[in-house]
Amino acid sequence: MPRSACPKCKTPIRILDNIPVLSWLLLKGHCRHCDNKISSRYPLVELLTAAMCGIVAWYLGFSWYSIALIGMTLVLISATFIDLDTMLLPDQLTVPLLWVGVALALLGISPTSLQDSVIGASRVIYAFGLCTGCSS
Ligand SMILES: [Zn+2]
Repeated sequence: MPRSACPKCKTPIRILDNIPVLSWLLLKGHCRHCDNKISSRYPLVELLTAAMCGIVAWYLGFSWYSIALIGMTLVLISATFIDLDTMLLPDQLTVPLLWVGVALALLGISPTSLQDSVIGASRVIYAFGLCTGCSS
């Protein structure tokens, strides 16, 4: 959110112009409205995302755990490129991953025990100072 838009003319990108990789190829890497060049980074990240999700699905097969890990893969790829651009990892991405990890252990979906999951989440919260109520 908000909807994808051209970085130059800010025109919202139509659904048919926003199909991963295919639309970029069909538009030859340019905005339909202003002809601004669209970075090849977009289809490359989309290809990376497809490859990473495919590897997770292939390795784990179909399960609730693999669906959860594919979701986590999407978040981690986003976080990686946000981090590369800004040198920041948004809490809006990282904190939910902690809770999803604990929830997966709590529900018995993850092979990690609940105890190990809580200990791991606690260490991350402590190391990155994510607990705003913990500081004195
Ligand atoms: Zn444009």
